Amino acid sequence: MPAATIEIDVHKPALDQPVKLHNRWHPAIPPLLEITPGSDCRLQCLDFTGGQIDRTDDPADVDGLKFESVHPLTGPIAVKGARPGDLLVVDILSLGSLESWGFSMVFPGQLRTGLLYDEFPDAAKSVWEIAGDVATSKHIPRVRLKAHMHPGLIGCAPDEKLLGEWNRREAELARRGPNQLSALPPEPMGALLGELPKAEWDHVAAEASRTTAHRENGGNADIKEFGVGARLYFPVRVDGGKLSAGDLHFSMGDGEITAAVEMAGWIDVGVDVIKDGMNRYGIETPLFNPSPKSPSTSGYLTFQGLSIDDDGSQRLFDATLSFRQACRAAISYLGRFGYTREQAYMLLACAPVESRISCVCNRPNACCTVAIPKDIFDFDIDPSAANINQEAVGRGAEH
Ligand code: ZN
Repeated sequence: MPAATIEIDVHKPALDQPVKLHNRWHPAIPPLLEITPGSDCRLQCLDFTGGQIDRTDDPADVDGLKFESVHPLTGPIAVKGARPGDLLVVDILSLGSLESWGFSMVFPGQLRTGLLYDEFPDAAKSVWEIAGDVATSKHIPRVRLKAHMHPGLIGCAPDEKLLGEWNRREAELARRGPNQLSALPPEPMGALLGELPKAEWDHVAAEASRTTAHRENGGNADIKEFGVGARLYFPVRVDGGKLSAGDLHFSMGDGEITAAVEMAGWIDVGVDVIKDGMNRYGIETPLFNPSPKSPSTSGYLTFQGLSIDDDGSQRLFDATLSFRQACRAAISYLGRFGYTREQAYMLLACAPVESRISCVCNRPNACCTVAIPKDIFDFDIDPSAANINQEAVGRGAEH
């Protein structure tokens, strides 16, 4: 265990933590810890809601989720000697859960969050019991998920110029629509700004960026390959780099089409610095070596999508539409085994599904695929004569 640790109390809300967390990006948020290149540290992290979700069957807590308060991050950590223009090298050394449970959800429709938010207006929840490196949920029966822990959110502070650019371009998108939630502008309500002096609070809260997006600093990229053994490279834009992390996941599918198996946990990171790395390699956005630990499975059942709009009209190479189609096909298929649409939707976000842009060269359709690992189920999900009379397995477990 690294000597340098930032500890939290999982039983306390984000506001009452022994250390001051932050849930906005801003260069003025002071570091909680300074470490030297070549060393490591442990960050304990709340779940992405900051403890708003209970270990109960009732999704009322999801329905009342305060979205302006999400993503309490642990950090920033300053790395001694890191200067703007450098590259910060971050090795993911180890991860673990601080509690014996996690959760997933279907976000309430008014939040317009999730790939198929327009088809799932009602909040739903699945609680996952974590035993060692396996998670199971009575809300999604006959499934076992192995641990593939990773940080959903990790990144460095922006400088003033980049922050201004984010606010400019995202405000422009919000003005264009299609709705007010197409981008989330700065929001003082619910803001946590770490150890920022109170005198600076109002000014910083009014311009600090929300942590829901991923951007040039990293952020909420939700990349499941950020597990143990991954090496991440972040552009440094402020002195020390100011690295923060949070939103830890026990398991997640590519695309995170709604919430992953979310958990409170800890992450050990090692850091190093490549001097002048941004210029030397022409790097403006993060890059990484994926974790070598891939989900071990006995194969996948894969669904294909087309670039067809919801009204049936043809679109040209629209990969998001194609991905929606592929996920819809998977949800519909899982329904044949008795899973409700909500169960199947959450399962695609929680299980380590592999999603691909398989082809964008055959006009007019982009071919996106979503591949479900078959060995998470305790029954055969392949289409076959043998399982055509498979008893409904999911029904009766709804909450
Ligand atoms: Zn998450």
